[in-house]
Amino acid sequence: MTLTLQQLNGADPAEALRLLDGLYEHSPWIAEQALAQRPFASLAALKHAMVTVLAHAGVDAQLALIRAHPELAGKAMVSQSLTAESTNEQTKAGLTNCTPEEFAHIQQLNAQYNTRFGFPFILAVRGPRGTGLAKREIIATFERRLGNPVDFERAECLRNIHRIAEIRLNDKFGFEPVVGNAVWDWHEDLSRHSDPEFAERGELTVTYLTDAHRACAADLVVRMRECGFDEVGIDAVGNVVGRYHGAAPDAPALLTGSHFDTVRNGGKYDGRLGIFVPMACVKQLHEAGKRLPFAVEVVGFAEEEGQRYKATFLGSGALTGHFNPAWLDQQDADGVTMRAAMQHAGLPATLGSIGALKRDPSNYLGFVEVHIEQGPVLNEMDLPLGVVTSINASVRYLCEAIGMASHAGTTPMSRRRDAASAVAELELYAEQRAAADGDSVATIGMLQVPGGSINVVPGRCLFSLDLRAPSNAQRDALERDILAQLRAICERRGIGLKTEETMRAAAAPSAPAWQARWERAVAALGVPLHRMPSGAGHDAMKLHEVMPQAMLFVRGQNSGISHNPLESTTSDDMELCVNAFSHLLDQLATEHKH
Ligand SMILES: [Zn+2]
Repeated sequence: MTLTLQQLNGADPAEALRLLDGLYEHSPWIAEQALAQRPFASLAALKHAMVTVLAHAGVDAQLALIRAHPELAGKAMVSQSLTAESTNEQTKAGLTNCTPEEFAHIQQLNAQYNTRFGFPFILAVRGPRGTGLAKREIIATFERRLGNPVDFERAECLRNIHRIAEIRLNDKFGFEPVVGNAVWDWHEDLSRHSDPEFAERGELTVTYLTDAHRACAADLVVRMRECGFDEVGIDAVGNVVGRYHGAAPDAPALLTGSHFDTVRNGGKYDGRLGIFVPMACVKQLHEAGKRLPFAVEVVGFAEEEGQRYKATFLGSGALTGHFNPAWLDQQDADGVTMRAAMQHAGLPATLGSIGALKRDPSNYLGFVEVHIEQGPVLNEMDLPLGVVTSINASVRYLCEAIGMASHAGTTPMSRRRDAASAVAELELYAEQRAAADGDSVATIGMLQVPGGSINVVPGRCLFSLDLRAPSNAQRDALERDILAQLRAICERRGIGLKTEETMRAAAAPSAPAWQARWERAVAALGVPLHRMPSGAGHDAMKLHEVMPQAMLFVRGQNSGISHNPLESTTSDDMELCVNAFSHLLDQLATEHKH
């Protein structure tokens, strides 16, 4: 017999505590205090109650909890004195059958870690899917976390402890995030396509219209058909579009989706989560034979990241009528024009066909987008979901500083026109200027001395500028100051300057009614509501130009790291996200009944 929430909510205190036995290693007080908050509306609410208890318990109690855990593959495992729960987890991760070499290596890491932090290394070894991390992943994580600052690492241990408790709780309740697991597996499956030079290194890179990109699109088409979409196709810019008809043929549509291209050596969930979550909802509708009073149009945007061509938001921009005709003649690093890449992909590559993608907003209710947070906020707060209030404004430049290449030995410091030093000076200024705002950010992410030599003063320096702020006015002020400083620096140093604006996006505040729908959806799951701005740009900011929009964020693991292979999220959080999306669909259905 598995446990039910009703049972737990109705049990007397001693019985309820017994029902939750073993969730937190040798620390029943956490469940005990959380149980005071009964009745729980959902498992998510119970999980969060326990998270809150530990957050308020103070550092000493937190450290005691961490120290109550056994070492990974440590002496307790060898002497078989682990708790039943720990034994189960370490077995599932294959730690009970290490080779002598692996075992010795883990022992050495345990010793190093303990010396540095004074507590044992804690990792939810059953991982984000609940099925167990590979030994190789465990060892890599162990090695990486050895370099963390102490306070950060203590918090990371606590987050892992909550994840361990979440899985143990699921086991007790016989709960498996079946839909979340499926969505997680779809991501894993799609990540097998990667551009060749990256694939060789086991890295994920999918840039616009490469073979890997087209393989992703083909997979999405198949997956959408399997989910029960009525119409599925690839449009003139390579977007994958699936439409699930509404009850009436002339019904308006809800537009949703995100991008499937990636940055170089990126994560598996950035963008793709926003395609797969609504696909899972349509699959459920289809299986139930249910039609809504509106159609659901899910778009896998072909291009958002601006990696192969300088054309960020190309996919969503085509839907808003903002495809720049000059892009077709742009060349990638190998000299392939976008037109040629499109033709190679079997797309018409004509302005007429691309212009025809522009959507008439009167046919749509609005746009919603689900996205992995790509930041540490939800992870730090131990919250699975967050509702976005606004997407920050941004602007990007590609620049070239032109000085004079000269002999590094014979050119006195006072006679140099060093292009790289000018950019270095700008970089330090940009850092201070953005920090002064508190919530602005400025980044020089590309910095290159083309054809540079160890004994040559840099004659040229190519660099990028990426500036973002919560409002257009704040971004404009930041941009003005940084460009003025750049010109002053170049003038003083005798450096020539070329700047090219490659992207400018206005701040995109969420439409209040749509934000409220996400808020109701999150609240209905028993998850505490957290509202937050988006520091990253998303396709929703393009659609914002023509229709109301609002976004939902999902917590990332590994302190929310993104644009990095460590990007991760759990199948439990994905399941909550699918449920939130379904709730939003239900709300819309109720609103549009008449
Ligand atoms: Zn993204």
